Amino acid sequence: KETDSPRLRLAVQKKGRLADDTFDLLAKCGLKVRHGRSRLFARIDELPIDVLLVRDDDIPELVASGAADAGIVGGNVFEEDRLTRDGEGAVIADALGFSRCRLCVAVAKGEAYAGPAYFSGKKVATSYPGLLQSWLEESGVKDAQIVLMHGAHEIAPRLGLADAICDIVSTGATLDTNGLKVADTIYRSEALLIAAPGLDVAKAEMLGALKGRMRGALASQHA
Ligand code: ATP
Ligand code: ZN
Repeated sequence: KETDSPRLRLAVQKKGRLADDTFDLLAKCGLKVRHGRSRLFARIDELPIDVLLVRDDDIPELVASGAADAGIVGGNVFEEDRLTRDGEGAVIADALGFSRCRLCVAVAKGEAYAGPAYFSGKKVATSYPGLLQSWLEESGVKDAQIVLMHGAHEIAPRLGLADAICDIVSTGATLDTNGLKVADTIYRSEALLIAAPGLDVAKAEMLGALKGRMRGALASQHA
């Protein structure tokens, strides 16, 4: 109905490492999201916001295309999308400070690692080709080969698929189990609030209001 006032469509991760903190933050903003198992869509009654519950990997494209007006996604996923896409991507509206993690390159424990030049002529398995390529270029490494994998990177060196890996590291336990060690951190990530390019004035205002609430909630949390 044309008389309906516009609603902001916010894409968030349905389930996973971003989801709990995202729903916590929305709750602290006074927004209750009823997210049943099979639900893909949740209306928020307190504000003119509809929440889309999706896989985190889909969030940059949903927001870049305008299918969603805004989203909450890891910086790693956002930057990877930005570096590998043709055409205009989503824009960062705010950094939210949670779901912090780092993207690292890791090599076999027995290797002597003295810096990025190590990767010259080496094969590196990753699901982050954009971020890895850009780090290698900034580091002056021109002849490394990137092997695209979507999971279980840690076994690639043992299988002879790659010499090293590039993946999200939290405790390092998985690396250790697989005979690997962190060599370098190539990107530090935190959750980002992102927005569709060219939001209209009404939606930009709604996003501004949401961002204000989020800042308030995050500030009281750290006080
Ligand atoms: P989905 O089913 O939505 O695709 P996923 O398995 O790809 O989920 P998660 O493991 O839930 O993703 O991680 C989502 C995001 O959480 C990561 O992209 C990253 O930004 C962040 N994160 C924070 N800590 C970690 C960690 N220890 N390991 C992996 N990701 C982490
Ligand atoms: Zn994912």
